[in-house]
Amino acid sequence: KGRLTIAGCGLHPGHMTLETQSLIEHAEIVLLVAPNPLSIQHILQLNANTEHLGRFYNMGFSRPEIYRQMAKRIIELVTAGKDVCTVFYGHPGVFVSSTRMASRVLKPLGHQVRMLPGISADACLYADLDLDPADTGCQSYESTRFLLTRRQVDSSAALILWQVGLTGEHSMDHFQPGEQGLAALTKLLLQSYPADHQVCLYEAPIFPGFEPKKDWLALADLPGAGAKVNTVSTLYIPACQAPEFAADRLAWLGLTEADIH
Ligand code: SAH
Repeated sequence: KGRLTIAGCGLHPGHMTLETQSLIEHAEIVLLVAPNPLSIQHILQLNANTEHLGRFYNMGFSRPEIYRQMAKRIIELVTAGKDVCTVFYGHPGVFVSSTRMASRVLKPLGHQVRMLPGISADACLYADLDLDPADTGCQSYESTRFLLTRRQVDSSAALILWQVGLTGEHSMDHFQPGEQGLAALTKLLLQSYPADHQVCLYEAPIFPGFEPKKDWLALADLPGAGAKVNTVSTLYIPACQAPEFAADRLAWLGLTEADIH
């Protein structure tokens, strides 16, 4: 019976786990959406029977349709009895809808489906921007959804916004950073953070040994920073104040703030 392994190759070849490497080597067919030529090279060396799912990006489909086409291809092969390994860049379960779509169809049909973790963009961000989510806590949203839904923004915790380069592209058929979207996002963020708060447009290196891109700028300057934003940019907004201790809850434990430090 066909089965599916959903693996991630990290952002560059150095990020691939030994477990993922071994599964790629032993798969009957590999379906690939990789970030960069080096990872593609690496995976082709591990298994020559590799098909590029990335081809759907160049066929004029809207984004939801691209993901549906990818899912359809995965399902087709697994239901035909193949042992399939799909390899996505980063972590294969972080902001990847086609693998979940395929999994939702295949599991009820009795196919074995499993996902292996990979090194995601936020894992790199924690390392490169020196952020330990334990210090302040960390909020993480897809940028357009963050903009268009009502959220309680907590400015005493870090905020990570994914797909910031596609902010406001609700139609999901564009791949261009929208100036209008960045302006609207900034307008919203200014309700919670000061205009001169330093935020970072971050890009993890996609080649081993290269430096990450960290463009720090004042929040108010974000709408004009369109040129620095692309489809792989992630926006990091540090906390701008310390959280307040809840005296009543400290009391539940018989503590005061002084006991915590
Ligand atoms: N599965 C991927 C994420 C895919 S969604 C992962 O686990 O990382 C695409 C979004 O991921 C981008 O819009 C951006 O917010 C983030 N991203 C992808 N590549 C990145 C990189 N090199 N540096 C920083 N963020 C990146």
